Amino acid sequence: MEDRYGHRISYLRVSITDRCNERCAYCMPAEEQEWLPREDVLSYEEVLRVIRVGATLGIRKVRITGGEPLTRRDVFWFFEQLGRIEGLEDIGVSTNGTLLARPANEGGSLTAADLLRRASVRTANISLDTLDRETYALATGRDYLPQVLDGIEAARAAGFESIKLNAVLMRGRNEHELWDLIEFARERDLLLRFIELMPVSTTQVLTEENFLPIGEARRLIEFRYGPLEPRRDFRTNGPAAYYRLPGTGQTIGFIGAMTDLHFCETCNKLRLTCEGKLRPCLGSHLEFDLRAVLRDPAMTDADVARFFREVVDRKPEQHEFRDNYQPNRKMIAIGG
Ligand code: SAM
Ligand code: SF4
Repeated sequence: MEDRYGHRISYLRVSITDRCNERCAYCMPAEEQEWLPREDVLSYEEVLRVIRVGATLGIRKVRITGGEPLTRRDVFWFFEQLGRIEGLEDIGVSTNGTLLARPANEGGSLTAADLLRRASVRTANISLDTLDRETYALATGRDYLPQVLDGIEAARAAGFESIKLNAVLMRGRNEHELWDLIEFARERDLLLRFIELMPVSTTQVLTEENFLPIGEARRLIEFRYGPLEPRRDFRTNGPAAYYRLPGTGQTIGFIGAMTDLHFCETCNKLRLTCEGKLRPCLGSHLEFDLRAVLRDPAMTDADVARFFREVVDRKPEQHEFRDNYQPNRKMIAIGG
């Protein structure tokens, strides 16, 4: 599938829940803690149908996210089914890491990370903004850093093909920890990416005092390590720009939705929200109600496919985050 601007769509990011065991201020507005009623959220069967149809249209990569996807009941069953869909080449999960080290089978010999890996999940993206326990508790509303660190070890032991650590940049919170995060990733051979704060969920967090642009983060890193060398040959499936650190050869990434003016040029993504809206862009209010199609007994897979194509036709050239975008949906429901 290709849109009007030449974006070739091969990647579907799927939120399977709006629920979470953490409360990150930049994701979930504190005042709003009501979860969606269960019947509003797509069933696993509905999600699998969408992905199956997507795969026939050229979707090759799926990343399962939320909310916290590992909080949803029977999630390993879902991942197993996902692994059986023909045409998918890459299945990933985005997680806060808190539940990865949990014993997850009868007898407790396997962790949640092991079960994901066995269910053909290739890549795990784990959020880690800070290595300081107090800062972590403050940022996420939960004192779970030890569990996350265990989760990272469990993911390493499970043998994912790639594990990425994602750190959202916030001035006054983690700019003094960039070096520590880099060392942490290097010691474990993990790919670290720094992400600019985006105005999703709530405008209160994205203030000038909080916002730390990737350009400034790069300068802070160069101050310690020397000039970063762009790695144009290095690409993952997303908009990150990668650089090599002098000396160690370590590669780190930067995701600058706000300040990188080329950010949208290579976009290959659609999003499916947990209540079945197909969204052509995270940074645009456009979204289309696929659930109504899925729940209409008269609608066939061909109708779902047509719906997909129509949404791709409506994909904007670029996001609207820089144009006074006003969030109207929780990130947690859209799926980051
Ligand atoms: N719960 C999982 C996690 O935390 O990784 C998956 C869902 S979370 C919404 C996915 C990613 O979105 C996380 O890396 C999180 O840090 C990021 N995120 C959430 N709100 C954000 C914001 N306002 N700006 C930038 N990134 C954000
Ligand atoms: Fe939960 Fe992830 Fe959002 Fe934090 S960023 S509240 S862990 S969904």
